[in-house]
Amino acid sequence: MSRVSSSSLLLALPLAGSGCSSPEAESAPTAERLLITGGTVVVMDEAGTILEGGAVLVEGDRIAGLFDRAAPRPAGIPVLDATGQLVIPGLVNTHGHAAMSLLRGLADDLPLMTWLEENIFPAEAALVAPDFVYWGTLLASIEMLRSGTTTFTDMYYFREEAARATIEAGIRAVVGPHVIGFPTPDFPTPEASLADADAFFEAYRDHPTLVPGTAAHAFYTTPLEPVRAAHDLARRHAAPFQIHVVEASDEDERVEAAIGMRTIPALESIGALRPGTVLAHGTYLTEDDIARIAAGGAGVAHNPESNMKLGASRAAPVAELLAAGVPVGLGTDGPASNNDLDMFGEMDTAAKLHKFATGDPAAMPAETVFRMATAGGARVLNLHDRIGSLEVGKRADIVLVETRSAHLTPLYRPYSHLVYAARGSDVSTVLVNGRIVVRDGEITTVDEAEVMERARGFAGQISEVVRNVRRDRAASEPN
Ligand SMILES: [Zn+2]
Repeated sequence: MSRVSSSSLLLALPLAGSGCSSPEAESAPTAERLLITGGTVVVMDEAGTILEGGAVLVEGDRIAGLFDRAAPRPAGIPVLDATGQLVIPGLVNTHGHAAMSLLRGLADDLPLMTWLEENIFPAEAALVAPDFVYWGTLLASIEMLRSGTTTFTDMYYFREEAARATIEAGIRAVVGPHVIGFPTPDFPTPEASLADADAFFEAYRDHPTLVPGTAAHAFYTTPLEPVRAAHDLARRHAAPFQIHVVEASDEDERVEAAIGMRTIPALESIGALRPGTVLAHGTYLTEDDIARIAAGGAGVAHNPESNMKLGASRAAPVAELLAAGVPVGLGTDGPASNNDLDMFGEMDTAAKLHKFATGDPAAMPAETVFRMATAGGARVLNLHDRIGSLEVGKRADIVLVETRSAHLTPLYRPYSHLVYAARGSDVSTVLVNGRIVVRDGEITTVDEAEVMERARGFAGQISEVVRNVRRDRAASEPN
């Protein structure tokens, strides 16, 4: 439901429960202020408010005011002109493996398990090192910021390097300890990965953009105990926890053979179906699974392009999840299984996949999809008190989308253009935590040319390793 405000109401109300005078408000005069004005503000609050000719006041790291066309604006502060642009909440990518940007295009057109177990895992074992993760995560962070993503959820190795890259790029990210049931490039065992993991949480406890969280790869790769330990660590720190669930059609059979339980009941048995748990994919969730997830409060990261590319035979039951009250966000998955990190493309695909899968053009309307990519994703990560909408008191994660182009002219309904016609390359300006990190389409925080040069530097080495992995496998296979 959308509402175009025509009153002259000053929409500077505090968030429910935050009181009328917060310490932040009292310290406001010292915070840097910026008025984003002249655009159409897509607020993404519960009511679906859209303010044509509206304005957003940023103070420091927060959204301090919302104004419709007629409301008087504060004077004498710097203005960011958003004429001809949509002003939207930063997009939230709820699932991915950022540093795999360096493996993009290395192996395609294969079934999930062949792709993963015969290509990606061996290549990673031979290649992944701290500098690989640092430069790969920087590259991915640039791609995401430039296409309007302000928060992403990472599941990879060398968490310190990944964290450092996201902080330097200026993107909000969920990063942290990861377990998988075999030796990884950073740790010989899952237990070793978690041994000193509290220190990571301590280091980033109050960080403005780095959100520590834990991850377990999946039950088909990881026994129950390390998954339980990774989740317990996240719960102890009230942090997000992520795990891949029922991505492949035969996955739950493999999981049941391995641990004696199906995936969702296993997570339920360790208390992991709580708010802040991110269930990535969920392509083959059953009705029984959905009821358990709804009862527990976990959320689902829907990755339509990755699922389609890796040969899923059905669409994840997103309408059923939403109907059951389960938070659902969108994710790109890793850049090697998508193969881009453009959430605009992901929105377009999500909307169309469910229409195709059901034969119903009313399935997954544009506003529902845009909500998944913003407020829904924030709820999946249990960060909805901070991000996901342009409401007063939330962090200033704000994206400007240029609409003065042939493919976005004329504009009748913002949600339609955002989901079906806009592309990541239409993003002009991005703020994360009140800081301008993309201006006029250019990243302001890091040297993009240098990052791409370093990425090219890895490519020769990566190609050679993969050639060797394939040659060794061919030699070991019986004729
Ligand atoms: Zn994944």
